[in-house]
Amino acid sequence: MSKITAGGVPVTRIAVQESCGEPVRFAAEELSRYLESSLGVALPVAPGGPGAGAFHLSTAGPELWAIQGSDRSLVTVRDGCVRVLGDNERSVLFAVYDLLQARLGVRFFGPGPEHEHVPAAQELRLEAGDVLKSSSPFAYRDYATGSADTVDFFAKNRGNTVMCSLDGEAAVAARRRGLLLRGPGHVWSRFVPADALFERHPEYFPLVDGRRTPNGRTACFSNPQVRRIFLDNLRAYLRANPGWDIFAFWAEDVGDPRYCGCEECSRMSLPDWYVTLVNEAAPVVAEEAPRAVFELIAYHGTRQPPQQVGKLWRNGEGMLFNFCLGYTRDIYHPLTAETHGSAEVTDMYRQWRSWLDRADFRGDILVMDYVNLCEAPNQGPRGRALLWPMDVLREDTRFYLSEGIVGVGNWFCFERLCWPTPFGIWSWLQLWKDPERTIESLKDDFYPAYFGPAAAGLRDYVERLEERMHEPTSPANLERVRTMGNEIGTILPMDDDRLQHRLQVVRTHHEYCVLLKEIWLAFQQNDVERWTQLEKPFRAFFERTHRDVLTGEIDIPPNWAYTWYDWRVERGAVQALVSDPSLH
Ligand SMILES: [Zn+2]
Repeated sequence: MSKITAGGVPVTRIAVQESCGEPVRFAAEELSRYLESSLGVALPVAPGGPGAGAFHLSTAGPELWAIQGSDRSLVTVRDGCVRVLGDNERSVLFAVYDLLQARLGVRFFGPGPEHEHVPAAQELRLEAGDVLKSSSPFAYRDYATGSADTVDFFAKNRGNTVMCSLDGEAAVAARRRGLLLRGPGHVWSRFVPADALFERHPEYFPLVDGRRTPNGRTACFSNPQVRRIFLDNLRAYLRANPGWDIFAFWAEDVGDPRYCGCEECSRMSLPDWYVTLVNEAAPVVAEEAPRAVFELIAYHGTRQPPQQVGKLWRNGEGMLFNFCLGYTRDIYHPLTAETHGSAEVTDMYRQWRSWLDRADFRGDILVMDYVNLCEAPNQGPRGRALLWPMDVLREDTRFYLSEGIVGVGNWFCFERLCWPTPFGIWSWLQLWKDPERTIESLKDDFYPAYFGPAAAGLRDYVERLEERMHEPTSPANLERVRTMGNEIGTILPMDDDRLQHRLQVVRTHHEYCVLLKEIWLAFQQNDVERWTQLEKPFRAFFERTHRDVLTGEIDIPPNWAYTWYDWRVERGAVQALVSDPSLH
């Protein structure tokens, strides 16, 4: 008896729609590869039509209309043929991955085969009729990355948008899978280049404290000549860089928040100037890159809505509005609880939403979150130990959906974050697929697959570690965190090398937790000698002490691992840090 059957008919080959593009052919290869890993059955892939005894991969229309959501996929068995369908090419690929997960127990926990779970299966019996229907509640699910491995991991978990450069390996991997390319982001300095212009035309540049001063970011936008240069260079950029699916129109990400202080520029607020530029740039993008969605952003200088400008070009039809406000929020309580920094974030959010309503905005809305801790206020030891509050992320995701927000993204800014385990990043991507899924059910899924016989012990350990890291720091709290190290060793003796390694990764994480609590305690006690002593192991932790174990588990060094220390300690702001009620 064949190991794979469809409505009782043995399945012996994979056929792809003859006219299909690369993502569908790639989907067929992926299906073949994982069926072989799981079942030990190698099915040949060839172009062709649907027929008995075949998987047939293609895009489709009406069959999918009954499914709600974006990137709709359907696997259905008819006359002995397994039809693998998507409403676009990437959704055919998503159908393959969803089927592997639903029917063979495959899991894609992190980038690279070492973080995947492909259990050996005896058979795959697909009954006649619909086998699987899937889709995503958010139209845009974004990850900023430069790594092809990360794009691969993300697509396997239904990610569909990649923020990357157009010419790197991530863009190649994204195109191969039919994902959307988003960018370029912070590129305004190209549009009014100080090197080429400042000497002859200092008046084009911002007036700061009475002097024209290039800031690598903005210009004297009230000068019509400057706006003409800006738009000409934007047009030239778009011609030289075709390929964006989402054109992210962001000012440069530098400290100086000012545009220009000249009399004419000072007549309007910064957000007014930004939306003025949006309204002039959007038609240029529509002409030069007609397929691209135009993205505008509420961030830094544009966190508040305009006061005078009240309209967006074409009522923002086809635009994407990006709320990038969360860098001052409290990440350990749901946004709507309005604790600590979250109150100002929700206030700015509501002000912009009401401006958009008044402007009769007809575009889409996306939110970027900041659990990566690259910005102030920088959470305390639990945050620095990358123990994300998944229950909070679930609440926030459900809130965004209820607000009619159709895009989600996060400044994960990690190519790999499988430390202490990949649970955080993996479960976040599952919430983007289904925000109603409970964290407990995600844990039920993750721990046995990732830790095998050590699952129960590890889950219990991580849950208690999260609690103890979240408690206010004190000598007793430090001791409670420290003694947990003994428990990891007693969880279970492992004779499996992969599990041994995963356990070792968790041990290094515990060591880091102790170190963070020690530094925090030294801050509290104002013990300069002690924290100076701790700085050495802190700085050496990833790059030297644990590099061997952690390579491939977390980026080395992790992005923004030291920002809080540098900002607070070197600027003498330790007391402000420990007395911040949102930190522990
Ligand atoms: Zn000016």
